Amino acid sequence: MRNPAELTSAFRARGLKVTPQRQLLFRLLHGNTAHPSADALYALAHAEMPGISLRTVYQTLTDLAAMGELDSLSLGGATRFDPNTDPHHHAQCSRCGALHDVYVEQLGCLEVRGLDGFTPNGATIVFSGLCAACTGLGAPRAAAAASEHAPVEQFSTPTPKEQSP
Ligand SMILES: [Zn+2]
Ligand SMILES: [Zn+2]
Repeated sequence: MRNPAELTSAFRARGLKVTPQRQLLFRLLHGNTAHPSADALYALAHAEMPGISLRTVYQTLTDLAAMGELDSLSLGGATRFDPNTDPHHHAQCSRCGALHDVYVEQLGCLEVRGLDGFTPNGATIVFSGLCAACTGLGAPRAAAAASEHAPVEQFSTPTPKEQSP
């Protein structure tokens, strides 16, 4: 996702209105690694600008996704929005729902059976398990020290999910 100033220009170039509410959303989304749902983004925005409506949040997310600035992720539960449009995969905590970006090397080396003539042009991997903070539940120090980029050290057999073109 481009920075708020660039998005403002891009929106105007498309004839879309850029209101202070939208600029707030650009700012909240830029560099956001939490993969917020529309409701979560609304809560963040509402804390700074109580007049903002959920409708504005949805419309802005829809416009940004249509412009390729955001990916939307359907991983069960509410749709999550991802300003990181570089190729990457995810690790989702089954306890708290936290979603982290992960990068998978050598994706082409997966041993896959059952394609039966299907020609894949992409794959999405979602690792499930516990995030660092949840793994450290009961150990406050570990939970407090949990970082955004904690490595996933243990996981059960990952389930590759074919991505429709
Ligand atoms: Zn968690
Ligand atoms: Zn992501």
